[in-house]
Amino acid sequence: MPSINPQKIVVFTGAGVSAESGLKTFRDNDGLWNNYRVEDVATPEAFARDPGLVLEFYNQRRAQARNAQPNAAHEAIARLEEKYEVVVITQNVDDLHERAGSTNVLHLHGLLTEARSTADPSLIYERGLADLNLGDLCEKGSQLRPNIVWFGEMVINIEPAAREFVDAGKVLVVGTSLQVYPAAGLLKKAHFHSEKYLVTLEVDYPPRHFKWMRGKAASVVPSLAKNWLQA
Ligand code: NAD
Repeated sequence: MPSINPQKIVVFTGAGVSAESGLKTFRDNDGLWNNYRVEDVATPEAFARDPGLVLEFYNQRRAQARNAQPNAAHEAIARLEEKYEVVVITQNVDDLHERAGSTNVLHLHGLLTEARSTADPSLIYERGLADLNLGDLCEKGSQLRPNIVWFGEMVINIEPAAREFVDAGKVLVVGTSLQVYPAAGLLKKAHFHSEKYLVTLEVDYPPRHFKWMRGKAASVVPSLAKNWLQA
């Protein structure tokens, strides 16, 4: 077993960390999936069938992200870098961790600010939060798609993310229902002796060995971070 690094924190986040910034979660009441069927907007088949609808769905997500600001939880996570080596591993496709100042963020499910070629997946373009439309092409002349991991596609960065967990002295999980695999399975990589915390409103099965701090991310995370910075 690798030795533990007490100065390293892995922060693993999901939609709930951005909820207080006004971005909807997926599974809570009034969540995104109440208005859309996943198979219509977030699968490769949907994009093949009706690319305009899929692009429109993600343009709505970008419009929401343009109007959103990082909240106190994103900011507290960024501040932890003053004292710790921090790796943020997020299932979110928004860029609020980066905008709050976190410098080491791994996105497991892609990023709204990026587009990728449908002809050559190695061609990835940073476009900010501008709309992506039919007719927006890569340098090889093929339609661009969101650089988002759709249901049925391979999660990116899962192995680098798993490696980050194994020696972290603290693991802080925020705002995820832990229902989406393989991302949720990463928690099992945490070191036996690490301190483990979960901050959510609800969870079906609290993961073993985690201390569940039930509450809103923007309230709970700043006080936890303050204690760690003062320790
Ligand atoms: P989820 O919707 O399944 O679960 C959200 C979790 O956050 C729940 O456990 C809920 O209790 C908790 N929560 C809600 N509001 C909270 C708050 N204010 N403070 C703390 N916790 C709160 O989301 P998930 O687990 O991230 O998984 C689903 C998928 O949704 C992910 O793949 C992610 O890519 C995607 N998603 C991303 C965004 C985004 O980028 N902002 C938004 C919606 C969904």
